[in-house]
Amino acid sequence: MLKYVREVMDMVREMNPGEPEFHQAVKEVLDSIEPVVRKHEKEYRANRVLERLVEPERSISFRVPWADDHGRLHVNRGFRVQFNSALGPYKGGLRFHPSVCRGSMQFLAFEQTFKNALTGQPIGGGKGGSNFNPKGKSDREVMAFCQSFMTELHKYIGPNEDVPAGDIGVGGREIGYLYGQYKRLTNQYEGVLTGKGLDWGGSLVRTEATGYGVCYIAEEMLNAHGKTLNGAVVAVSGSGNVATYAVQKAQQMGAKVVTVSDSNGYIYDPDGIKVDIVKEIKEVRRARISEYVKMVPTATYRDGKKAWEVKCDVALPCAIQNELNLDDAMDLVANGCYAVVEGANMPTTREATDYFQKKKVLFMPGKASNAGGVAVSALEMAQNSMRTRRSFEDVDADLQNIMKGIWQQVSSAAEDYDMAGNYVAGANIAGFRKVVKAMRDQGWV
Ligand code: NDP
Repeated sequence: MLKYVREVMDMVREMNPGEPEFHQAVKEVLDSIEPVVRKHEKEYRANRVLERLVEPERSISFRVPWADDHGRLHVNRGFRVQFNSALGPYKGGLRFHPSVCRGSMQFLAFEQTFKNALTGQPIGGGKGGSNFNPKGKSDREVMAFCQSFMTELHKYIGPNEDVPAGDIGVGGREIGYLYGQYKRLTNQYEGVLTGKGLDWGGSLVRTEATGYGVCYIAEEMLNAHGKTLNGAVVAVSGSGNVATYAVQKAQQMGAKVVTVSDSNGYIYDPDGIKVDIVKEIKEVRRARISEYVKMVPTATYRDGKKAWEVKCDVALPCAIQNELNLDDAMDLVANGCYAVVEGANMPTTREATDYFQKKKVLFMPGKASNAGGVAVSALEMAQNSMRTRRSFEDVDADLQNIMKGIWQQVSSAAEDYDMAGNYVAGANIAGFRKVVKAMRDQGWV
C-alpha cells in the first residue's frame, strides 16, 4: 500500500474510533484509487487532498425529544453529516433505524459523495437520520418524532444548501410529516426534501427510481458480457422501497425473481414473487414478510435465514450494509450465481466482494448501481426550481440514460487503469476524479 494512503487510513482510524463501517468504506475507496494517487502524489500530498476527502465539511448531532401515545417522553439522537459540497448542495437520505450512529452516518455520507458524482447531476454528498425505530409506532408517534426532528434539522438545510430524502425507515409518510414541519417553521414552500408526494412537489418515478436503476445498470453490465436479465433467476433481499421496485423491474425485463426478505427471514416463491402482495404487506399493512405465505401458500418462509442460500443466476442485495458475508458469497457461487448488483449501500462485506471478484462473478457496487434514486431526486429538485412537472416516461428515459452513463464511466475508468471488469475500482476512480477536479477548481476549499 502506498505510504500516503496508509498514513491517511491510519489517521481515519485514529480520528474516528469505534466506527468500523466508516473505516471499511474509506479503505475500499482508498485501495481503489491508489493508482490515481500514485500518479498525482506530489500535488495531493501538498494540498492534503485525501485528508480533506475523508473529513466531512460539517457534522451535526442533535437531541430529538418526543412523546408517545401514552404521554411517555423519549429522547433520540439526530444526525446530519454534510460531507462534501464540491459538486452541489449536500444531498442524501435520512435513515430512521436503531443502528444509526455517527459511524454509520459518516460511512453513508462519504459513499454518497462519490455516488452523486457518478450521476452527473449537480449534487454534493450528505446523509442523516436517527436511532429512532419506526417499527410498531403509531402514525401519530411517527409524526411527533418527525416534527421534533425537523424542528432542529431545518436550521441546517435548504434548497441550495442541503436537500435530504428518504432511506431505511423514511418513506413517503415520513417525508410528508418532515416537509409539513419545515414549511410551518420557515414559511417557505420549496424543494428542501425529495421523495415528496406527487400532488405537492414530488417527481414521478422517484419511488421506483433506485430499484429500477439497479436493473437498468445490471442489464448494461450483463449485456457487455453476453448475458441478460431476460430469463435469469434472481434472488433479492429486503422488501422495502429498493427491493420492491427492483423485483418489479426485473420481472418486467423478463427475469424470474424468487426471493424477498426482511430482518426476520426470507420468502422463496418458485413461481416468482408477487410484487402486489409485497406492497400490500409492507406499504399498506406495515407487517412482516412472513405474512406472504398466508396469501401465497405455494411459497415458503425460512425464519432466521438469508436469501443467499437459494439457487440463482443474479443476486440483488437490497436491504442493509454487510448483509452478504463471505459464507453467503460462497453459497451463491457454489449455486451458480454469476452476477451481483448491489441495491443497498455496502451490503457486501469486503471479504465477500474480494471472493466474488476472485471467482469472476460480475460485481457492481452500490455507489454505482443504486444511484438511480438520488439521480431522480436531483431531477425532482430541478422540477421544483422550475415549478414544473414531467411525465413518467420522460423521467424514466432520463433515469435509463443516467444509469447507462454511470455504466460507461465505471467500466471505462476501470479500463483506464488496467483493471477492466473491476467495477468497484471503476466506480471509486470515476467518482473520485470528478470530486477532486471540482475541489481543485474551487481552490481546495
Ligand atoms: P426500507 O426501509 O424501505 O427497506 C429496508 C428493507 O431491508 C426492509 O425490508 C428491512 O426489513 C430490510 N432489512 C433491514 N435490516 C435487515 C437485515 N439485517 N437483514 C435483512 N433485511 C433487512 O429501505 P430502502 O429500501 O429505502 O433502503 C434499502 C437499502 O438501499 C439501504 O441500504 C439504503 O441505504 C439503500 N438505498 C436506498 C435508496 C432509496 O432511494 N430508498 C437509494 C439508494 C440506496 P425490516 O422491516 O425487518 O427492517
